[in-house]
Amino acid sequence: MDLAIKNGRIIDPVADRDELGELYVVNGRIAATPPPGEHETIDARNKVVAPGLIDIHVHLREPGQSHKETIESGTKAAAAGGFCSIACMPNTEPPADNPSTIAWIADRARESASINVFPTGAITKGLKGEEMAPIGSMVQAGIIAITDDGHCVQNNEVMRRAVEYARMFDLPVMDHCQDYDMVGDGVMHEGYWSTVLGLSGWPRAAEEIIVMRNILLAELCDTRIHCQHLSSGGSVRLVREARSRGIPVTAEICPHHIALTDECIGSFDANYKMNPPLRTQRDAEELIEGVADGTITLLASDHAPHAYFEKEVEFDQAPFGILGLETELALFLTILVHRTKAIDIKRLIAMYTVNPAALVRLPKGTLAPGRDADITIIDPDLEWTFRKEESFSRSRNTPFDGWKLKGRAVHTIVAGKTVWKL
Ligand SMILES: [Zn+2]
Repeated sequence: MDLAIKNGRIIDPVADRDELGELYVVNGRIAATPPPGEHETIDARNKVVAPGLIDIHVHLREPGQSHKETIESGTKAAAAGGFCSIACMPNTEPPADNPSTIAWIADRARESASINVFPTGAITKGLKGEEMAPIGSMVQAGIIAITDDGHCVQNNEVMRRAVEYARMFDLPVMDHCQDYDMVGDGVMHEGYWSTVLGLSGWPRAAEEIIVMRNILLAELCDTRIHCQHLSSGGSVRLVREARSRGIPVTAEICPHHIALTDECIGSFDANYKMNPPLRTQRDAEELIEGVADGTITLLASDHAPHAYFEKEVEFDQAPFGILGLETELALFLTILVHRTKAIDIKRLIAMYTVNPAALVRLPKGTLAPGRDADITIIDPDLEWTFRKEESFSRSRNTPFDGWKLKGRAVHTIVAGKTVWKL
């Protein structure tokens, strides 16, 4: 069905467009003129009409861990969060470190996904950090980036070779920044609260040292390296300095690192256990400053579902990670736009559309005529309460149950088709 979206505030950051107007969809694509025949009309009064949002950091858990999430359930949660496209991480079982697993994920997405799914491939075989994965054949199978997310290549020479190889395919390298020896068995931020609670610490420097390694390799190899889910204020300072010298390094943050601090772990609730860990209020403020001054240019969820029985164990034993797809937009709107006013909604939309599209070279993230009609309609002022029982995910591991939030996606359209609406 063709569409006319009326009365909305259309924001398309790449075209520097922010105006009240109408947006048309004909044959699944954005059109410059109204549909010629019968069509549906959507009233977007008091709403923002944005290019379909993109989350470049999602764990869909298929293949191998469908008790946590499936491509079907995860993409439903994504659609309900306002996302039209997501990049899924390769730490599945088996890991997505070869073209046949990538092809399997793409096939499964074609059958069961309600939105666009773009697979990433592992940097190294088995995510072991030793031997490079067959990057060229994974590119042919459709990956948009390489990452060992959940793991981190420790050997700098292996990483250098992978970065040089990625350069041949104009492929970004995304990195989960963690020095294994420094982290050891750390389960939370190393500081006052880890001492008080008697839990092993994961120091900031163990992230910053790998962020610095990545900056040096991005400079040496002139290849774009993207640092995933920054948690430390020191990492922001390193990325700021590198970007000011034109080094092709980018960084993302996830909402939990600015919404929560390590103090929350006093409850020993494993829904506050993530990797990298929650840090201090000062870190959260420095991450927000990094967003405000343009050091951090991407937002993502690190949506990491785990089953109830897996998280309901002692804090040290529980797996890292929380759900994110259905709360990330609202948390970022609440904190970055409404509460701290670090950025306006146009910047926030850029961080979820044109910026990720540019990083992974996707022809998405804009409302230009002729492009796929991926559209997210957002009510930026809607006050609502997140209830985990209403989630589309197969898992319930979130610390945000019952949180009052301001702003939410109300309608998600992929290739002209409504995939979710409030
Ligand atoms: Zn990670």
